[in-house]
Amino acid sequence: MFEESIIVVGGGVAGLTSAALLSREGYPVTLVEAHTQLGGCAGTFQRGPFTFDVGATQVAGLEKGGIHNRLFHYLDIPVPKSELLDPGCSVVLGDGTEPINLWHDPSRWKKERQEQFPGSEVFWSLCSQIHKSNWAFVDRDPILPVRNFWDCSQLLRALRPPNLLTGVFSKLTISDLLKITSCQRDRRLRRFLDLQLKLYSQEPASRTAALYGATVLQMAQSPRGLWHLHGSMQILSDLLRNSFLRDGGKLLIGHRVTNIFNEKESNSFYVDIIDTRKNSIRLNASDIVFSLPPQSLLDLIPIDGGLSTTYREVINKLPKPSGALVFYGALSRSRLPVNCPNHIQIFDQHFGSLFISISMEDDQRAPAGMATLIASVFVNVDQWSNLDSQSYAKKKNIVGNKLINIINNHFDLQETSWVHHELSTPRSFARWTGRPGGIVGGLGQHPSQFGPFGLASRTPLKGLWLCGDSIYPGEGTAGVSQSAMMVVRQLMESKGRHLKIPVLNE
Ligand SMILES: Cc1cc2nc3c(=O)[nH]c(=O)nc-3n(C[C@H](O)[C@H](O)[C@H](O)COP(=O)(O)OP(=O)(O)OC[C@H]3O[C@@H](n4cnc5c(N)ncnc54)[C@H](O)[C@@H]3O)c2cc1C
Repeated sequence: MFEESIIVVGGGVAGLTSAALLSREGYPVTLVEAHTQLGGCAGTFQRGPFTFDVGATQVAGLEKGGIHNRLFHYLDIPVPKSELLDPGCSVVLGDGTEPINLWHDPSRWKKERQEQFPGSEVFWSLCSQIHKSNWAFVDRDPILPVRNFWDCSQLLRALRPPNLLTGVFSKLTISDLLKITSCQRDRRLRRFLDLQLKLYSQEPASRTAALYGATVLQMAQSPRGLWHLHGSMQILSDLLRNSFLRDGGKLLIGHRVTNIFNEKESNSFYVDIIDTRKNSIRLNASDIVFSLPPQSLLDLIPIDGGLSTTYREVINKLPKPSGALVFYGALSRSRLPVNCPNHIQIFDQHFGSLFISISMEDDQRAPAGMATLIASVFVNVDQWSNLDSQSYAKKKNIVGNKLINIINNHFDLQETSWVHHELSTPRSFARWTGRPGGIVGGLGQHPSQFGPFGLASRTPLKGLWLCGDSIYPGEGTAGVSQSAMMVVRQLMESKGRHLKIPVLNE
């Protein structure tokens, strides 16, 4: 039925998850993906015998009760084979002290942090209380931020007394929690928190919302956990695509959306699309699920296309997310230390956080005896825009050398240790994912931006819905899957139907 035809824009994990859920529910859905490959920031690419994950390398939410696990069961697709990461990450503060290992077992992690940060237990206990109350809340599928009566009813349904108690922290930062618990003078703890939070919230402790930070700081511990996918990150997208196609979805791959226009009279949208051979197509839909960064709306919806000036202003004023530089290397496993953790975060004076992911033996990313090593840092995208090709090549060369030197120093490697290496910049991400300027991750999780205070999935333009890493609960494949489920629930409710996806905790 035309009234219910839906176009999902973007085939990253957010777009794929919403498209798979909607087609499972019987809606006619067309998913439009610009790249010739699905996955976006959680995609992969091949270099000879090596498979590299483009951006995301570790996955949350695969455990029972976790969002990927929950959605995969609902979609009736297998949960992909993966290894639990233990430690989830090994954090090197760069001050000559022992690395901090994020163990999966909560009591082992407690012992580790007590040894590493003596006297900080009161801070961790507070984080733990907030974390527990947050997860119970998230499992009850709240809608955030609230934009109408139904959203509000879903939020109230999810709230329990512990959430009202932790709600008093909603305007505080992680630094405030350190002050409350008299731990603000522990410089090592502060550096550790700054590093870890930058990874998940794009912000340091002084700017990360306490309620968000307390949760992500305990992602690696049971009953949650961080996982390493067998094969590559692409498996998430492949499985979601299979579910979508099995349920009758229409996939337009290598098709770029160039224009979205709302026709007031018919209360519907037309969407202009161009394929790789430059053929133009125009599709109609009652609803658009938009999974690209919201900043892209400004280019894709013309001034007279239905988006109000006020809303355009809201999007214009969003804080600019970071970009990333990613080093992709391959080397013999024998060059790496024995029992080297798969995920390492290093503090570096120049780049701040350097996050390293190393493939596992037999995980199909590298031939036997070889390993892939991916290292990423955050950068300001403005420093990479407007460079002519010569300045760009020069800058890329300089930072590439800086990065490889840090990695070589850390692992005691030589230039000759590498069988392959290359670097991607914000320009590469802009090309690969179509994200404006190469911005990655979502909006920073500052108290003024997170959860109830963030950008809503419901827009002022009826029928235009947002999901992805700028929408609650934020970045990461788990986060964007949660946002996709939320937007599908809202969209279905707008058509008089309800989606209830069971939580399988035991
Ligand atoms: C370096 C890096 C490391 C990361 N590490 C992790 C990690 O370890 N774990 C984790 O969980 N997360 C990690 N993340 C974050 C995670 O990858 C993202 O939050 C998530 O994958 C975003 O998914 P998305 O679907 O919202 O957006 P995207 O992945 O950006 O998908 C958007 C899709 O839209 C398509 N598109 C763009 N423009 C158009 C258009 N005009 N028409 C049609 N299609 C279009 C793109 O090609 C793309 O496929 C990392 C990200 C980066 C960059």
